[in-house]
Amino acid sequence: MTDPATTAFDVIIVGGGPAGLCAAMYAGRGMLRAVLLERGVTGGELLNTEKIEDYPGFISILGPDLAEKMTEHAKAFGADIRQENVEGIHRLPDGAFEVRASEGIVYHAPTVILTAGGLPTKLGVPGEEEFAGRGVSYCAVCDGAFFKGETIAVVGGGDAAVEEADYLTRYAEKVYLIHRRDALRASKLIQERAFANPKIEMVWNTRVLEMRGTPAGLNELLVEDTVEGGERTLAVTGSFIFVGFVPNSGLIKEHFEHDAAGYIITDDRMMTSVPGLFAAGDLRVQLTRQITTAVGDATTAAIAVEKYLTDRKAMAGA
Ligand SMILES: Cc1cc2nc3c(=O)[nH]c(=O)nc-3n(C[C@H](O)[C@H](O)[C@H](O)COP(=O)(O)OP(=O)(O)OC[C@H]3O[C@@H](n4cnc5c(N)ncnc54)[C@H](O)[C@@H]3O)c2cc1C
Repeated sequence: MTDPATTAFDVIIVGGGPAGLCAAMYAGRGMLRAVLLERGVTGGELLNTEKIEDYPGFISILGPDLAEKMTEHAKAFGADIRQENVEGIHRLPDGAFEVRASEGIVYHAPTVILTAGGLPTKLGVPGEEEFAGRGVSYCAVCDGAFFKGETIAVVGGGDAAVEEADYLTRYAEKVYLIHRRDALRASKLIQERAFANPKIEMVWNTRVLEMRGTPAGLNELLVEDTVEGGERTLAVTGSFIFVGFVPNSGLIKEHFEHDAAGYIITDDRMMTSVPGLFAAGDLRVQLTRQITTAVGDATTAAIAVEKYLTDRKAMAGA
């Protein structure tokens, strides 16, 4: 409990994607004693992103290059980045936090900023991993513009899939909306908009078996009729998968407010319903999940942490 290597902090940042790195940069500039715990290499989803064209200041930049720049920037302001896999975040009776990492290492601090992101659910079919970033995508806002005038597919039947299929028609010439059943789960209004869109062709009762292509990228999907059982191919250069997203909010070992899908609800200072526990980036309830929104959340969270600590000290001294 008294080892300064794990206790001498004002804030523990969990996750080293754009949100975590930005929070570490702000915390460093704000003279907070911060530690960032990242289970792998810093950069988060940037490391799985080919080209980014919507981060201000860079007309086009490769994801890993932006990850490196954000890491350097955080380190330039003194970020203490450690490779640790966090297993749980507990609030102690005195209001401080215990963050348990692998191999029994336990960190303590009065505040935590959770920026552990989440993972899009994969279809798990052959070719999906091979063509990720070369035709296969999980983010329409991020990658839609790369498919101008092309024929693409969207897989899924919920709000996200149907809404994004409609959105993607502003770029693509044609969008196949592939769903394994004969009715969508999306809300009626969203469905009606999609049915009225002449660029969307519904592909009912169908599941993707394989994604195929050449070294240049994806060029067809092998699909199966879930009722009749027959197989056929669809010629597409892009395939957007929207079959779910799992936020890494399960690390919080207290009751906290969240929506039905497990996304964390915060106030406008990014504080969760657990006092002193802040959340930023993809795992938070919000309209869209982008690099800009992740760093925006993190900026607010880091500054809110400073204010929270000042208020806590004032209350303790009063
Ligand atoms: C393929 C793809 C392309 C995209 N393209 C764009 C784009 O062009 N433009 C754009 O604006 N957005 C894009 N996005 C979205 C953008 O990448 C995310 O919104 C952004 O990365 C969110 O940042 P984050 O820090 O909240 O989460 P993440 O980037 O997911 O980072 C979370 C970090 O937390 C770490 N972590 C998780 N659990 C633990 C744990 N238990 N212990 C320690 N560390 C942990 C992870 O290893 C990861 O490094 C894309 C996303 C994907 C998947």
